[in-house]
Amino acid sequence: MSTANDDLRGLIRTIPDFPKPGIMFRDITTLLLDPAGFACSVERIVEGVDGPVDLVAGIEARGFIFAAPVALALGAGVLLVRKDGKLPGATIAEDYALEYGTDRIAIHADAFAPGARVLLIDDLIATGGTARAAVRLLRKAGAQVTHAAFVIDLPELGGADALRAEGIEVATLVP
Ligand code: AMP
Repeated sequence: MSTANDDLRGLIRTIPDFPKPGIMFRDITTLLLDPAGFACSVERIVEGVDGPVDLVAGIEARGFIFAAPVALALGAGVLLVRKDGKLPGATIAEDYALEYGTDRIAIHADAFAPGARVLLIDDLIATGGTARAAVRLLRKAGAQVTHAAFVIDLPELGGADALRAEGIEVATLVP
């Protein structure tokens, strides 16, 4: 696939003041509408994986879209990291801080055996609060989490560096 990272960037639009004033929302729906761009983004993530992976964990909701094709390409399973209250079986959960208040994510408690090698994926990393909570949750459940991938990085918010400081190798496609 010859789509350069610059072209991927052009397929992602920025919507100002969504969902609230002051937020520049990076909208991947335009990337998803472009078959070559979507395929390229998946391929780039897969190319960056340098070790064996048992499960690809996608963070609800846009992380699911990238986690599934990456998992198929790697011969791995898909693990859903969901907002609390959405999974039907027994769960393990983790809280994390938002600008105002807290949120909680969860996985099925029986999703994997201890030692499973898990690659974490989301569409975007900003402050890293969501991804770091997902890493804590996965590690609490016994997973080995050494790699994470994001289509978009907002480097000025420091999330990717914070994740790296916790021993995670972080790959991002578009600044
Ligand atoms: P954070 O926990 O601050 O790293 O935020 C990452 C999560 O929030 C991801 O699941 C993103 O989909 C979403 N998110 C945060 N900021 C933005 C943004 N500017 N545009 C689109 N999604 C965002």
